[in-house]
Amino acid sequence: MRQRRAGLLGAALLSIAMLASACGSSSGDDGAASASSGSPGSSGVTVVASTNVYGDIVRQVAGDKVTITSIISDPSADPHSYEANTRTQLELSKANVVIENGGGYDDFVDTMLKSANSKAKVLNAVEISGKTAGAGEELNEHVWYDLPSMSKLADQIASALSAADPGNAATYTANATAFQHKLKELETTAAGIKSAHAGVSVAMTEPVPGYLLEACGLENKTPEEFAEAIEEGTDVPAAALQETLDLFIGKQVKLLAYNEQTTGPETEKVLQAAKDNKIAVVPVTETLPAGMDYVSWMSGNLAAIKAALG
Ligand SMILES: [Zn+2]
Repeated sequence: MRQRRAGLLGAALLSIAMLASACGSSSGDDGAASASSGSPGSSGVTVVASTNVYGDIVRQVAGDKVTITSIISDPSADPHSYEANTRTQLELSKANVVIENGGGYDDFVDTMLKSANSKAKVLNAVEISGKTAGAGEELNEHVWYDLPSMSKLADQIASALSAADPGNAATYTANATAFQHKLKELETTAAGIKSAHAGVSVAMTEPVPGYLLEACGLENKTPEEFAEAIEEGTDVPAAALQETLDLFIGKQVKLLAYNEQTTGPETEKVLQAAKDNKIAVVPVTETLPAGMDYVSWMSGNLAAIKAALG
């Protein structure tokens, strides 16, 4: 899936970059690990999530009953090239329940769990989603942009927490149901966009919000070769770049979903082409932005898509 592998030098530079960005961050946390631990939960159960997106969904289901640690929460870093460290290893070794994305996104979680001989209950979001690669296509592993999948995940989280802490099972189930109710409202919003704009063409620098755009009935026109190269961190073939730029120059798309966490000369060219041709830009991220929860984040994404379509 992901070919982006930092060598030793790359890893060292990345650590420095993470330290540097931690200096500018307002959180008092040790940003080098990008981990954010919550206050200790009353049940003594510890959950580790690979990103703060999953950490927040656990929070919705668990309330203040469990301790939640999100390994990746730095909005300025690309989670695909995250380098785990000893602190991550320690957090994972103590966890009762672990939530990983799967699908090649956060393989370090499995590697570390194995070497720590962990007995944690592991929930794999891609597996739970049931999503697979289409014929001749690569799996879009960004399943947290798929609302029905996150509803399924909430059920699994409630079950795992209930098994670890039977005394609070009723609370976990009720919280999961409340969360799922909010997801249904978001699905209704997406269906409303679909009924007004089905078949409208869009572009994206990476398939990050692919499932959400699909739920809105929008058709992705980005050349496969472009998105693939951006995702894998390889050079974009000149023809694929030109084909992508032409989508904006020819005003063939109504919006550009722009992944702010993976940028480079090629994506910046595409962003500029969108701006030059007055095509709406919808910024998307791989981690939960500060001050938001999953529902307010997705609600904002849907509002931005709706506004871009006019
Ligand atoms: Zn991604």
